[in-house]
Amino acid sequence: MSFDPYVVREDFPIFKKIVNGRNLIYFDNAATTQKPRQVVEAIADYYFNYNSNVLRSINTLSAQATDLYINSRRKIASFIGAREEEVVFTKNTTEGLNSLAEALPRLIGRKLTVVTSIMEHHSNLLPWRRMVSEKGGRLIVVGMDSDFTVNMDELERRLEEGCDVLTIVHVSNVLGTMNPVKEICRLAHKHGSLFVIDAAQSIPHMPFNVQEVEPDFMVFSGHKMLGPTGIGVLYIRKSLIEKIEPWELGGGMVKTVTMESQTYEDIPFRFEAGTPNVEGVVGLAAAVDYLNNIGLKNIVEHEANLVKHLMEGLDEGFIKVHGPDESSKHKGIVSFSVKGIHPHDVAQMLDADGIMVRSGALCAEPLVNALGVNAVVRVSLYLYNTVEEVDRFLDSMKKLRMLT
Ligand code: PMP
Repeated sequence: MSFDPYVVREDFPIFKKIVNGRNLIYFDNAATTQKPRQVVEAIADYYFNYNSNVLRSINTLSAQATDLYINSRRKIASFIGAREEEVVFTKNTTEGLNSLAEALPRLIGRKLTVVTSIMEHHSNLLPWRRMVSEKGGRLIVVGMDSDFTVNMDELERRLEEGCDVLTIVHVSNVLGTMNPVKEICRLAHKHGSLFVIDAAQSIPHMPFNVQEVEPDFMVFSGHKMLGPTGIGVLYIRKSLIEKIEPWELGGGMVKTVTMESQTYEDIPFRFEAGTPNVEGVVGLAAAVDYLNNIGLKNIVEHEANLVKHLMEGLDEGFIKVHGPDESSKHKGIVSFSVKGIHPHDVAQMLDADGIMVRSGALCAEPLVNALGVNAVVRVSLYLYNTVEEVDRFLDSMKKLRMLT
């Protein structure tokens, strides 16, 4: 299918918006993405025509809402090549990682050695750090290589020394560099470790199949892939999900309860205590339909062209791009520093031109500090961004240079 971002943009009413006198340019997609009409309409349709609690009542409306909920899970699971019983709904990536830090000590039954990397978002560092500090065990942080991906020699050494859980980001939210998760997974399993992928920045942007990579766990957020906020996925491999003790207890996750004991619901329902976020699940399924319709390969290619155009247009004497020189290694994300101007001031100047970017430590302070700075400016792109928008951004950067 041919892909045209201008056709795509028609589905996103927000792009009609004027900000500070200019047409809105949204370059903050790693933080969250805009929502197409189809996602918002699917949520409205659920509320207007099917709203009911799910998996509980025996009335017709509840049966219809339950069908919608179950079918949505099937669609979302198939998007990543998973079985439906391997997909647990969470509120976001952060909740998925916190749940794992809660569940895995109980599963493994001893003090854990957890290995992670300097490239992680705070969400993939802090839950593990608190877990080992409260329950005992060790957290080991592996560094980066000269190509701005995880140092594989160091990683393998740590795995050889003994590791229970290896947890690594797929695509860095700061640099856009991509870790070789398939190879890392193979190494982790060779050395007897479980492997968690933080896929928050990859699932929205590229084809991914859990059967090909074979991670034990994987987490991502709906809001970064055109879906609503408040819904995320925790994928757990079938052979493990049967053995994991639910980390939250309450209604909807038990079959029978006496004053002494309980039996749990089937997987994955036993991991979704309380009334679930039905609108979120329905909205995420609509986002998956939308992305499938466009084709993930088209998105990969489009983002690569935009990043190339952007990096070629940046003035090297004025702007330092963090990470690899090759644009093909930045998966839709370019972070940079501007000579003599604080990142927040750069972001504010771009904002005055109607261009939304992110500045700061990007919830990955150890990584940003390892780059030798304490803040950066980040441009993060998606399917609806255009070459014309990149040109407007480059013009604003030129204007900034002339002002300084
Ligand atoms: N990991 C990565 C790599 C991210 O980019 C983000 C979001 N910036 C998160 C985790 C956390 O995602 P959420 O805020 O949706 O929980």
